[in-house]
Amino acid sequence: MRKSVVAIVGRPNVGKSTIFNRLVGERISIVEDTPGVTRDRIYSKAEWLNQTFNIIDTGGIEMVDEPLLNQMRQQAEIAIDEADVIIFMLNGREGITAADEEVAKLLFKSNKPVVLAVNKMDNPDMHEMIYEFYALGFGQPFPISGTHGLGLGDMLDEVVNHFPSNEEDEKDDDTIYFSLIGRPNVGKSSLVNALLNENRVIVSEIEGTTRDAIDTKLRKDDQDFVIIDTAGMRKRGKVYESTEKYSVLRALRAIERSDVVLVLIDAETGIREQDKKIAGYAHEAGRAIVIVVNKWDTIDSDEKAMKDFETKIRAHFQYLDYAPIVFLSAKTKKRLHTLIPMVQLASENHAKRIQTNVLNDVIMDAIAMNPTPTLKGRRLKVLYATQVAVKPPSFVVFVNDPELMHFSYERFLENKIRDAFDFTGTPIKLFARRRQ
Ligand code: GDP
Ligand code: GDP
Repeated sequence: MRKSVVAIVGRPNVGKSTIFNRLVGERISIVEDTPGVTRDRIYSKAEWLNQTFNIIDTGGIEMVDEPLLNQMRQQAEIAIDEADVIIFMLNGREGITAADEEVAKLLFKSNKPVVLAVNKMDNPDMHEMIYEFYALGFGQPFPISGTHGLGLGDMLDEVVNHFPSNEEDEKDDDTIYFSLIGRPNVGKSSLVNALLNENRVIVSEIEGTTRDAIDTKLRKDDQDFVIIDTAGMRKRGKVYESTEKYSVLRALRAIERSDVVLVLIDAETGIREQDKKIAGYAHEAGRAIVIVVNKWDTIDSDEKAMKDFETKIRAHFQYLDYAPIVFLSAKTKKRLHTLIPMVQLASENHAKRIQTNVLNDVIMDAIAMNPTPTLKGRRLKVLYATQVAVKPPSFVVFVNDPELMHFSYERFLENKIRDAFDFTGTPIKLFARRRQ
C-alpha cells in the first residue's frame, strides 16, 4: 500500500527543517554495514497516531544561484508534484511577505490540500497573530512552535484528515513492481524502452492518480509487471530535476513502491562512489535487488571480462552479496532476455515463506555444527526460530538472552539459512528475542 506523502514548503528560515526533524524523530538509522550511505535528510518516514507517512522538506533541495522567488516557485512545484498534502509554513512573527503570496498563488491553483502552519508561536499570547493568515485563503492557520514542539498535534490531525483513501491505489498481489535506479546516463530510460519493445504486450500506461508519475504495465509469460516511475525518466525538463537531492528523492520514492530494484551500473565508466550510495538506499529499504551492468556492448566481452567485473562489484558492494548480477546492453539488446527471469526469481524469493519445522531443522543442525557463543560464562541457548514476515523474509530466533547473540553468530545463522534455501536477490533479516 502506498504511503501518503506530505511536503513542507515555505521561505528560508521559517523553521521547515526544525519541524521536519521533529516529525521524523530518531527514525533515520543508517545501517552500519552500508558504506557510503549518508542519507540526505530531506525525505523520511514520519508517524502520527497510527498513520505512517513520508515527509519531504523541500527546503533541503537546494537550487543554487536562483533568486528567492524562483526557488520558492520550484519548491512549490516539487511539493505539488510529489505530495498528497502540503504543509505551507509561515513565520508568524513576520506576517505575510510577497514571497509567501507568490507561493500561495501556486499552491492555490494546484488544488492540493494545504495546511497552514504558522511557526515561531512560542507562547500562547502570540496566538492572536495568526489571524492575518486567514487572508491566504487556505482556511484555518495552525499556530505551532518548532523550538518548543507546540501545536504539532492539531496541525497533524488536519494533515492526516486530508490523506487520500487507499482504495485508489490497491496493489495487485501477483504483479511484480520494479524500478530502475542509477546515476544519470547509466541507461535507465534506454533499458525501459528496450524492455517495452522486446515484450510487445504492453497493457497500459497508468496515470498516477495523485501525482505526475506514470507506471508502465508489461506482461511476459503470464506474469504481470509494473515498471515504476518511468515518467520521471521520459519527460524531463523541469529545472530542479537535475539537482542531485531531487534525483535521490525520486529514487527513494520509486524504491519504496518496488518489490525489486534494478541497480544499474555503467560498464563503460565503471563503478563510481555515487553508485554505492544509490545501491545503499535500496539495500536499506529491504527490497529485492538485481544489479544490472549495462552497456556491456562497449566491453570486449568474454567470460573473463564478466568474472573480472563481478569481482569488482563484489568488492565494492559487499553488503549486496545476495544480489545477482546481469550483464546486458540496452542498446544492442544483447543478453536482455536474461533480465526478466532474474527479476522474477528475486521477487519470488523476496516473498518466500519457510515452514517453521523445516527452518528449525536447519537452525538446530547449524548449532550442532558450531556451538553457540558464551559471554561471561553464560551460554546462548536457542529455543526455536520462526519466520515472522516476508518482503524481505524476516526470522525471529527465540533465545534465553538476546545479549548473548553475538553479531558474528547471527551472521553464521543467516548464512546457514541462505545455504539451505534459495534467497538469491533478497536481503533476509534475523532478530534474536527473549522467549516470554
Ligand atoms: P528552514 O530554513 O525553513 O528550514 O528553517 P530552520 O528550521 O533552519 O529554522 C530557522 C531558524 O528559526 C533556526 O534558527 C531555528 O532555530 C529557528 N526556529 C525554528 N522554529 C522556531 C520556533 O518555533 N520558534 C523560534 N523562536 N525559532 C524557531
Ligand atoms: P538514463 O539517464 O539513465 O536514463 O540514461 P539514458 O537511457 O538516457 O542513456 C544515456 C546514454 O547512454 C544515451 O546516450 C544512450 O544511448 C546510451 N546508452 C544506453 N544504454 C546503452 C548501451 O547498452 N550501450 C551503449 N553503448 N550505450 C547505451
